[in-house]
Amino acid sequence: MSDHAPRTLVVKEVVKETGDAHSLVFEGPAMPYRPGQFLTLRIPSDREPTARCYSLSSSPDVDDLLKVTIKRTVDGYGSNWVCDNIEAGTTVEVLPPAGHFTPRDLGADLLLFAGGSGITPVMSIVKSALKRGRGRLVLVYANRDDSSVIFAAELAELSRRHPGRLVLLHWLESVQGLPSAEQLAELVRPHVDGREAFICGPGPFMDAVKVALAELGVPRPLVHVEKFVSLSGTTWGAPVEVVDDGGPSSTVHVELDGDATELSWPQQSKLLDLLLAKGLDAPYSCRQGDCSACACKLLEGEVTMINNNVLEKQDLDEGWILACQSLPVSDLVKVSYDA
Ligand SMILES: Cc1cc2nc3c(=O)[nH]c(=O)nc-3n(C[C@H](O)[C@H](O)[C@H](O)COP(=O)(O)OP(=O)(O)OC[C@H]3O[C@@H](n4cnc5c(N)ncnc54)[C@H](O)[C@@H]3O)c2cc1C
Repeated sequence: MSDHAPRTLVVKEVVKETGDAHSLVFEGPAMPYRPGQFLTLRIPSDREPTARCYSLSSSPDVDDLLKVTIKRTVDGYGSNWVCDNIEAGTTVEVLPPAGHFTPRDLGADLLLFAGGSGITPVMSIVKSALKRGRGRLVLVYANRDDSSVIFAAELAELSRRHPGRLVLLHWLESVQGLPSAEQLAELVRPHVDGREAFICGPGPFMDAVKVALAELGVPRPLVHVEKFVSLSGTTWGAPVEVVDDGGPSSTVHVELDGDATELSWPQQSKLLDLLLAKGLDAPYSCRQGDCSACACKLLEGEVTMINNNVLEKQDLDEGWILACQSLPVSDLVKVSYDA
């Protein structure tokens, strides 16, 4: 089986983390992944095939089994289906771990911001960084009230076991109101010293954190965000469409998993579709420009993206593109998944 093909996992255990958040622990062996990555789950539906991304809250360095944590969204379809229907023994079809919300250096000092269910990828990063590195971590964790704090006990225990290495700063809306950019800036001002920042949570929370970090002069390339959006209908099993009608083509050089491949790229076809059609094991999840599972680096040439709801200006400036949405503009394009 290719590394990025869908596979079926069996749920070993469902853990009720809070009143509205469940973790699914899957039977082993775990697939390889990096802290901060996510799985894409197929959600049964009598409509079109439905998919939802869920970050791994387990750590590849600490936990033997894969775990995702899902918080109910009011009136949401996928999250409520998972929380209402999945139990030990249920099989779930998933796309393997993907995503780029991972520190380059797990030994470095890190500034982490989580709001609500945004703790899931951050939890994975915290556990891996504490286990593998010697860096100091500051975690600002915002929640509605104390009953909605996912992993409260586990985080308190980690902080106790690693004195001086994990500073936990809880923010409760029920006590302190919604955090403003000014308040967040004051909170982390002593810890802004050139370290990378990772942010995951509701949109307004992430916006406030970004403003706070900008006010504190944190350079934008050090700031990483993970947006929790829902994938729309057509993700799962969308057909691979390569328009090879003898029309204009470019040439693409692809570096993937240490191999270099050169292909003719019909200009009406998306890069990911081309790679999948040619049997390359390229990563992907949503296939509609909503997640970053298929992101690769543009080394040379020019592409245009049909849709991009995830890469920010900074990412584009650094050369990141979404293979699932990219069409060639220049005659020669070089991309790398390994850069
Ligand atoms: C990279 C990434 C990581 C994420 N990680 C997490 C995480 O760790 N934890 C977490 O809780 N969330 C996470 N999310 C968010 C998660 O993927 C969902 O967006 C969230 O659970 C809300 O989904 P929902 O279906 O419940 O709600 P909504 O998206 O609000 O559901 C409503 C949608 O479902 C459609 N719908 C309604 N009925 C049906 C039906 N019968 N069949 C098909 N569609 C229907 C509606 O048209 C509507 O569009 C992550 C998202 C991303 C992109």
